[in-house]
Amino acid sequence: MSVLTQPHFHNETAAIARLEAIGWPQGPHCPRCGGFDRITTVKGGREGLRRCGPCKREFTVTVGTVFERSHVKLHIWFQAAHLMASSKKGISAHQLHRTLGVTYKTAWFIEHRLRDGTLPMLGGEDKDVEADTTYVGGKEKNKHTRKRDPRAIGGLGKQIAHTLVEHGGAARSSHIADVTGKTLRTVLNNVDCKSALMTDTAGGYLHVGREFSSHDTVDHGEDEYVRGNAHSNAVEGYFSILKRGIIGTFHHMSEQHLHRYLAKFDFRYSNRSALGIEDEARAALAMRGIVGMRLMYRDSSLA
Ligand SMILES: [Zn+2]
Repeated sequence: MSVLTQPHFHNETAAIARLEAIGWPQGPHCPRCGGFDRITTVKGGREGLRRCGPCKREFTVTVGTVFERSHVKLHIWFQAAHLMASSKKGISAHQLHRTLGVTYKTAWFIEHRLRDGTLPMLGGEDKDVEADTTYVGGKEKNKHTRKRDPRAIGGLGKQIAHTLVEHGGAARSSHIADVTGKTLRTVLNNVDCKSALMTDTAGGYLHVGREFSSHDTVDHGEDEYVRGNAHSNAVEGYFSILKRGIIGTFHHMSEQHLHRYLAKFDFRYSNRSALGIEDEARAALAMRGIVGMRLMYRDSSLA
């Protein structure tokens, strides 16, 4: 892990300058009128305060974002983004809590918001998207579908993770209650219907599959992982990373937190080095995502 020597990891002024460079690649612009012209720095104001000449609005790069409303200093957010981006197996909130010296609750909050900043769209015209499920928790967790005892599923602490993987692109996972058509339709709402959909032969995919430009299936029960253009290699690869991460980092997978763990692995997978995004760029993307969203978290408890 790198030694975090750059000033924006330690110094709030440097952190604001760095966020401005990341969040305003075309230069500062006004959040009220959207203008780029006649924006000046307010002398004697708080760090990074700007003023829009035309509409008189005063603002900073963090205005309207979760950075502004959180008590956590910006340089700590940069440390968190760096740790998340450079950890190969994903980083637990507990590790963030210890490393950053923030409360566990704050660490959960930071981690969740940084991931939200990079949520990808999946699929589109001429894009292939694989969908599949795996079971997490319990003794059956590492077994493949055909080796599992179906009677052992449900009620014994095993949870169902559903993952969508765009070929050459991002992943989006959900913790689902069952594999009925209704549930699968809900998760497939994350996929552009112009995509080519690839699934296993689970019955729940049949109806919703017709809403896509094509729907190919592979039958895991027949050990058939590639048939024609229908692959399950990408999603199988995702599940293998997920399970290594669970074994390596998260020893206790609670049902309550499964969706957060899945989101963590989606972040890792969707910004993986194979896409040409290296650690520092990945960290910058997470920070810029938050500036770009300018979300107001009125209903969430802020760290
Ligand atoms: Zn303005």
